[in-house]
Amino acid sequence: MNCVSTRGAGPVSLSKALAEGLAPDGGLYVFPLEVQPPVSLGARLADTATSLLTPLFSGEPLDAAILSKLAFTFDAPLSPIDDDTFLLELFHGPTAAFKDFGARFLAEALSRLGLPPTTILVATSGDTGAAVAAAFHRRSGFRVVILYPDGRVSGRQAHQLGAFGDNVRTFKVNGSFDDCQRLVKQAFAKPELVSRHGLSSANSISLGRLLPQMTYYAHASLTMLQRTGEPVDVIVPTGNLGNALACLMAKRLGLPIGRVFCATNSNRVVPDFLERGTYEPRASLPTLANAMDVGAPSNLERLRWWFPELETMRSVVSSDWVDDETIRRTIATVFRATKMAICPHTACGVALRDRLRSKGYRAPLLIAATAHPAKFETIVEPLIGHALVPPPALAELLARPSRAQPLEPSLSALESALG
Ligand SMILES: *Cc1c(COP(=O)(O)O)cnc(C)c1O
Repeated sequence: MNCVSTRGAGPVSLSKALAEGLAPDGGLYVFPLEVQPPVSLGARLADTATSLLTPLFSGEPLDAAILSKLAFTFDAPLSPIDDDTFLLELFHGPTAAFKDFGARFLAEALSRLGLPPTTILVATSGDTGAAVAAAFHRRSGFRVVILYPDGRVSGRQAHQLGAFGDNVRTFKVNGSFDDCQRLVKQAFAKPELVSRHGLSSANSISLGRLLPQMTYYAHASLTMLQRTGEPVDVIVPTGNLGNALACLMAKRLGLPIGRVFCATNSNRVVPDFLERGTYEPRASLPTLANAMDVGAPSNLERLRWWFPELETMRSVVSSDWVDDETIRRTIATVFRATKMAICPHTACGVALRDRLRSKGYRAPLLIAATAHPAKFETIVEPLIGHALVPPPALAELLARPSRAQPLEPSLSALESALG
């Protein structure tokens, strides 16, 4: 399958787009959504993924079945919180957030492309860095450099980010996630730097993360179709817009998905864009749902490429934002009603569901549950009055020593850090 850049470069093969991450003209790689793969629901996520991705990888030196089998060793189960709302649990991977799906698939793909020694440079708002580090940890030919905003991630996220060692180096940047993301973009804009270090990106700007993220929406929507006979509407807690975009791509590829609701925290660039039609990036605000603290969502460029008409976009995507107080209240209310703990990001999605229901919206809803609540125990535990047990993989990382070096938010500082 051929890909082009949102800014015009290409076409290039999908494998080349995966290897490069960001397109040479600074745009993001996209592919035509006119393909309609005949997707069938498999017993496991890996089976559905194989059926969705095989046509997209035809003619490529990568085997979608092998990649899916190696990457998706855990499922994304649906769990009901009432009669017609289902959480799509995306946190059963090694770092307990949905980023594991994309990172593991990308790592399997890149290790099979025969690349020269590669440095994966990744900016993270909290979860991506750990997922990418886990996926590339001790893989020969790869080194991982993580940039995270110091003081803006949870204690357990920070611990996890620094707990890998070996071929993973972790920097805590004196700035926000947007600063980290800007540094990565600046590094990629310097061809000399890119070739010296074999830089590649694993951020959600890489198609290699969006493709695998489509698969759990495919699996879940086909499962729901079996139950209800209808396309299902989906709420996606949204920051950089990668996960929501993956859901929209799955819809465009023909999966039974109805509307897509993007729930943001107080960083309301996406809802404002959909309302006003103008993109106004701004400085990100720290919130309880820190992995969504994004003031300049880079994937908006893809959204606008795939849905050039605002009216068409509005006919399938809606968005609304949720403040910290509502996040807290929602975590407490859901626990009281169901005895289930949810993370602050997932709470943004559930809060949007509450708003829709209060307006009389009756259709079944799927809410992406993006991280395990135990990653955010200092927020969640006081609200539910219970200690949360970290899943085994997370507990294992938390038991390791952790180390991160400070970094100033400038390209020259990053250049010397890269060595
Ligand atoms: C990354 C992340 C998000 C936001 O996803 P995007 O693809 O950036 O929109 C939401 N919740 C959690 C837990 C995350 O780690």
